[in-house]
Amino acid sequence: MSLKAKILLLYTGGTIGMSKDFETGALKAFNFNKLLQKIPELKQLDCEIETLSFEEPIDSSNMNPLEWTKIANVIESTYDQFDGFVVLHGSDTMSYTASAMSFMLENLAKPVIFTGSQLPIGDLRTDAKENLITAIQIASLQENNVPVISEVCLYFEYKLYRGNRTTKINAEHFKAFTSPNYPHLIESGVHLKKWPDLFLPQKKRGELIVHKVLDTNVVIIKIFPGISEMVVNAILAIPALQGVVLETYGSGNAPTEEWFISLLTKAIDRGVHIVNVTQCSGGSVNMGQYETSTSMKQIGVISGKDITTEAAITKLMYLLQQDVAAGDFKTIFETSLRGEMI
Ligand code: ASP
Repeated sequence: MSLKAKILLLYTGGTIGMSKDFETGALKAFNFNKLLQKIPELKQLDCEIETLSFEEPIDSSNMNPLEWTKIANVIESTYDQFDGFVVLHGSDTMSYTASAMSFMLENLAKPVIFTGSQLPIGDLRTDAKENLITAIQIASLQENNVPVISEVCLYFEYKLYRGNRTTKINAEHFKAFTSPNYPHLIESGVHLKKWPDLFLPQKKRGELIVHKVLDTNVVIIKIFPGISEMVVNAILAIPALQGVVLETYGSGNAPTEEWFISLLTKAIDRGVHIVNVTQCSGGSVNMGQYETSTSMKQIGVISGKDITTEAAITKLMYLLQQDVAAGDFKTIFETSLRGEMI
């Protein structure tokens, strides 16, 4: 006998559940129960849905590791009661949260699907209904009572992506996300088209381990022609700094000026981990391919390979709180932990 999948729908905030303040015209969060009233179609889904809302739903611009921990706590405390989780979240920082969650939830064996919308659920042309309904449908997919998806994903505009591979690319289009270096896992059309070979394998995992403490002594530096020594020096001299995501050009290239390499070297010698990711929206870092990245390779800069900036910064926050020996950090960072890089 196959039992109906039980899905927990968690509302954290974001446009999907917002309404217009008639006085100011600004969008603000409204009562989550009203969200469900607006989608009677949910009753037609072949699963049981329970809902939970953040006490104070937030615009995702206010997301931070403390809020991530709240999401992780909900999943941890209800993990055994549900077959899947759908997290409604503002699109602005959804890729950061999905990436962070992929690292925070070790041994995840059930789907955690983030979704949201570009237009509020009450809007005539809203994209919220499709996103929400299909995300729940995918979260409830089972084979022999085992969830089909067992990783953190992001569903938006007909596509299910691996969460830590995504990035928000458009503030207006319904197609707000892309996964530049990894194909989407499922596509919704007349049928749900699945590519199971791309899913993280449902291997026998241990118990769910939830990592709740992240290190925020990290920074993203995007280099640009003319970036000054004074600025780079000031950032790298921050005493508590533990990790840097360095957004470089093309396949991981940066200025070869002596001051630049020397500042990076000093920081690395002080124990700061520097990860090289590309500013390009697709492709991979390959240090040593050009002379402009050879020195960085020699001084021990970590290759972010084809990771997104969102996944790189959250992986740093996560790994810096793990018991990783200094000598192993580079190797572990360069290893795919949750399918976030090649
Ligand atoms: N500013 C909103 C947020 O990220 C946008 C959205 O929900 O898509 O919370």
